[in-house]
Amino acid sequence: MPQYDAIVIGTGQAGPSMARRLAGAGRKVAIIERGLFGGTCVNTGCTPTKTLVASAEAAYIARRAAEFGVVVEGAVSVDMKRVKARKDAVVAPSNLGVERSLRGTENCTVYQGHARFTGPHEVRVGDKVLSAAQIFINVGGRPSAPPMPGLDQVAYLTSTSMMDVDFLPEHLVVVGGSYVGLEFAQMYRRFGSAVTVIEMGPRLIAREDEDVSAAILEILRQEGIQVRLNATCLSVARSGNGIAASVDCTEGAPTISGSHLLVATGRRPNTDDLGLEAAGIAQDSRGFITVDDQLRTNVPGVWALGDCNGRGAFTHTSWNDFEIVAANLLDNDPRRVGDRIPAYGLFIDPPLGRAGMTEAEARKSGRKLLVGKMPMEDVSRAVEKGDTRGFMKVVVDAETRLILGAAILGPGGDEAVHCVLDLMYAKAPYTVMQRAVHIHPTVAEFIPTMLGDLVAV
Ligand SMILES: Cc1cc2nc3c(=O)[nH]c(=O)nc-3n(C[C@H](O)[C@H](O)[C@H](O)COP(=O)(O)OP(=O)(O)OC[C@H]3O[C@@H](n4cnc5c(N)ncnc54)[C@H](O)[C@@H]3O)c2cc1C
Repeated sequence: MPQYDAIVIGTGQAGPSMARRLAGAGRKVAIIERGLFGGTCVNTGCTPTKTLVASAEAAYIARRAAEFGVVVEGAVSVDMKRVKARKDAVVAPSNLGVERSLRGTENCTVYQGHARFTGPHEVRVGDKVLSAAQIFINVGGRPSAPPMPGLDQVAYLTSTSMMDVDFLPEHLVVVGGSYVGLEFAQMYRRFGSAVTVIEMGPRLIAREDEDVSAAILEILRQEGIQVRLNATCLSVARSGNGIAASVDCTEGAPTISGSHLLVATGRRPNTDDLGLEAAGIAQDSRGFITVDDQLRTNVPGVWALGDCNGRGAFTHTSWNDFEIVAANLLDNDPRRVGDRIPAYGLFIDPPLGRAGMTEAEARKSGRKLLVGKMPMEDVSRAVEKGDTRGFMKVVVDAETRLILGAAILGPGGDEAVHCVLDLMYAKAPYTVMQRAVHIHPTVAEFIPTMLGDLVAV
């Protein structure tokens, strides 16, 4: 039985760094990958989708060229084979880079195959059983489909299989009005498909404040995307060469016909086939591995990092998990997940940048609040760029004057929100940023202005 000091399962956003860090500290490390090196973000998540979003934005701007005084001769069309080729060309170096760097790391052995626990400190991969005192689980997740009548009778796409699409669907029906579904919906509309989004709830991205959901609905509808909300009792069936979705909506046609169906209704952790029971590793009812604030499982010497622990669903949270575990194990630095402020983006165009609590969460906490809000129409950079859709909002604790959260929906919102995020990490009152002099003309320059105009709610 090959023995190691540490075994890392999965090469997502935490695993490779963990393996390199441990190997660099002189530990004998094994890392196991059953699929593509680099995991979801690199191969089927952030990198390819944001590359596709960039192609879609180019098409959108090209169609609006005349508004900017730019002449485009003839109609703008999109060559999907070239769009996919560009996406593949961006992904390939990252995927290869992860594999090369792991194979080139001294003290690190790479195994390719499915890993499964056979005991608390033993993992089978192929015909080998490896053992180690320390095991780091970074197995990520995969798309999950809801129990929807008819879904087993139709061909449907997921965020993963969308990566192979090199043609233009005539009419893409997207089930799921949340982050992943909306990014695909807008990009395919901009590529030239008819797009319908079906959402079972009463609004898009229900985790956000109602004003954010409403503004995003408006942005998508303006671009010609059909959105059907309150689609309870959803079922799908084959219809000719395409699909038909029956929706029980409060208004509109009861059936939506499309050429292709994308199911974007969430993800599940890759823990069902990991042999967790053999190791006695605890998981919750949805299969997420239970961890404490330093990402330790209930089994001593076993940690779970990234999407599989249910403490985050982003590349930056998985990477931060690595930082927390490495700091505790190797640097005598007691970092914790609880110190992390929630932050993420929705990469439609214009994007949404989010930090901390929503206004609804802050109100629920019972604090006295100050709220500032500014439409992008008042932001000169947005006017100059010809995109004044969206708004920015900040929520402040009236007593401590600390910022509790922010949403910036508009050009550069995904970048500008970091001003707020960093102030929150600094635990500094909002008045510090109110007096800061930001660069003109930027979206971020209006955050101090907004902070000067807070209203008690
Ligand atoms: C369409 C889409 C867009 C996204 N966009 C963003 C974004 O813009 N920003 C952002 O922050 N996040 C985004 N995400 C989420 C992000 O991709 C993940 O949060 C991120 O990849 C972290 O994953 P991870 O490190 O937990 O594991 P993963 O990256 O999922 O990697 C897990 C690895 O483990 C391997 N594995 C699994 N089981 C086993 C086993 N038993 N044996 C061996 N190997 C195994 C898998 O093959 C995989 O390579 C997106 C996700 C999707 C689907």
